[in-house]
Amino acid sequence: MYACVECGKRLPPRAKGGHREREYCSNRCRQRAHRKHKKQDLESRHLIERVCGRLPLTPDLSVGRDHWRFERTGLLQSARLLAARCDTAEAEARFLRARNTMLEDEAHTLRSLLADKEAEIVRLTVLLEGQSKRRT
Ligand SMILES: [Zn+2]
Repeated sequence: MYACVECGKRLPPRAKGGHREREYCSNRCRQRAHRKHKKQDLESRHLIERVCGRLPLTPDLSVGRDHWRFERTGLLQSARLLAARCDTAEAEARFLRARNTMLEDEAHTLRSLLADKEAEIVRLTVLLEGQSKRRT
């Protein structure tokens, strides 16, 4: 690592014998990053609960710490987008269900109207047949 993960400031080269590459330029950056990650973790847990609670999904626990560290902002953005799309799809489903109910009611009304008309046709046909019999 040659730059601070948080602010991007260049870091001095690793000291000889140092066992680990520095990631932050200062304690302030380390703390700021820690706070940011905690907030992101909370939000992603919330989003996972929301999305996975409704879908047969389980979070991929095999994602490593370092992978998560660099991808978290992008992943969080995708999760937000998916949650929003989920909301839109559910609203659309509710609308379509309401419309379906309305159309079924309409179909029911039309079917009973049709039954009335058919009964009327039968009645008139019988009447007509009776009149033509009387004439002959
Ligand atoms: Zn920094």
